[in-house]
Amino acid sequence: MSEYDYLVIGGGSGGVATARRAAEYGARVLLIEGGRLGGTCVNVGCVPKKVMWYAGGIAQTLADAPGYGFTVGQTSFDWATLKHSRDAYIDRLNGIYANMLEKAGVSLVRGFARFVDGRTVEVNGQHYSAEHIVIATGGRPSVPEIPGAVLGITSDGFFTLDHLPARVAVVGGGYIAVELAGVLNALGSKVTMLVRGEQLLRPFDAMVREELMTQMKDDGVNILTSTQARSVKRTQSGALRVECDQLDLEVDTLIWAIGREANTDRLDLANAGITAEAGGVIVTDPFQNTSTSGIYAIGDITGRAELTPVAIAAGRKLAARLFKGEADARLDYDNIPTVTFSHPPIGTIGLTEDEARKQHKTVSVYTTRFTGMYNAMTEHKPKTAMKLVCAGAEERVVGCHIIGEGADEMLQGFAVAIKMGATKADFDSTVAIHPTSAEELVTMR
Ligand code: FAD
Ligand code: NDP
Repeated sequence: MSEYDYLVIGGGSGGVATARRAAEYGARVLLIEGGRLGGTCVNVGCVPKKVMWYAGGIAQTLADAPGYGFTVGQTSFDWATLKHSRDAYIDRLNGIYANMLEKAGVSLVRGFARFVDGRTVEVNGQHYSAEHIVIATGGRPSVPEIPGAVLGITSDGFFTLDHLPARVAVVGGGYIAVELAGVLNALGSKVTMLVRGEQLLRPFDAMVREELMTQMKDDGVNILTSTQARSVKRTQSGALRVECDQLDLEVDTLIWAIGREANTDRLDLANAGITAEAGGVIVTDPFQNTSTSGIYAIGDITGRAELTPVAIAAGRKLAARLFKGEADARLDYDNIPTVTFSHPPIGTIGLTEDEARKQHKTVSVYTTRFTGMYNAMTEHKPKTAMKLVCAGAEERVVGCHIIGEGADEMLQGFAVAIKMGATKADFDSTVAIHPTSAEELVTMR
């Protein structure tokens, strides 16, 4: 039996962050990772996705270039070259993560952990124990239980594709669905989205949802709403036939992007006295405590704001509370900014207009919609739309929603202001930066 101060189960965004911080504060830390270091974000999430999003952006820039007087000759795109560079980049990141842990003095064991009791886990037949154990095992893509579902792939499979599929069906209307559909469409696939409801990105502000739907359709994505895939079959030609209620669709690749489930099944949680909720989620209190004393959970496994910076921040706060004596350290889950790397991108923070109207008596809303200056010269004319949602007589900005070129980089600074409690008057008293799209956020009337 090996004894540590802190056992970290899972070497993804949250696990690596909490392990390094705890070691920095002097704890003896063991991190256990069953797959690749860096977890979802580095290997099959944020990082490879953003590379693909950039590739889609380059395709768009090439199409825009004639508007600026460039004659672009015959262009071609080689998926295999991009995949090779992307995979090599991720291999480098895996190595960097291993080095960072070693430098921080964190011990690493490769394998899947399961609880033996509330203080002990077992990995590859070896037992490890600690006073504090954190579960940071993240999640994996869901696949529906319908006939032929295995013929489809998920976001994990998207990153192993060795060629650009000609015809793709993407099932779902959430973050992953709109991001992958946008990339594939920009790179030249014929994309059909099968959305079970009426909307893309259902929890988002209505303005953003509607604008995204309009722009994706304008860009050539076929979006079928109120549509459910019922079964999938392989045709004689090797294609996939997706059978829906009112229509059948023939595609080369089918991507399930219908949400994720938590990685709790290998953990033998019952041995630690923990019960997972529906979807494997582990419920924690605001301090990341589970129902068992000395066992904590962070990141996607907790089912709250499934974003890398959230997992990292929760992990760092937890390390500070346990090993730096900061008894009150905890992540504030309010006003978390988030960007969807759709085409065009979306940046959003705080309350939607509908949420604000339910929570506040007085709500004022400012909106704008325009064609950015870059697109004055181009044939493709996507719109940028923005909304500020303000509450109370003092007009505190409680929500900011942006869709359009640059929204991804625009939001972070505004998020600081909103987190600090900025009012519309504070926005207005800030001198604009011209000519930018972001200046509209401080000049809205
Ligand atoms: P993970 O990063 O999933 O890490 C969990 C780790 O635990 C894994 O490495 C796994 O192998 C390991 N593990 C599981 N079970 C065990 C066990 N029993 N023993 C040992 N190890 C185990 N977020 C953003 O903020 N921005 C984005 O742009 C973004 N894009 C995304 C794109 C996609 C396609 C996906 C799928 C997700 C994206 N996310 C994004 C979400 C982000 O990846 C996650 O929120 C984040 O990775 C969660 O970190 P985590 O530490 O909770 O879990
Ligand atoms: P989301 O929860 O964002 O979306 C799931 C989608 O699948 C919704 O449109 C949902 O529809 C639909 N759906 C659910 N079940 C079914 C079903 N049985 N049949 C058909 N459709 C179904 O999940 P994702 O997997 O896209 O992403 C998971 C999380 O990862 C995100 O919530 C986000 O936190 C994180 N992420 C962050 C990114 C970023 O920061 N840029 C990028 C990618 C992921 P309905 O709306 O009707 O429920």
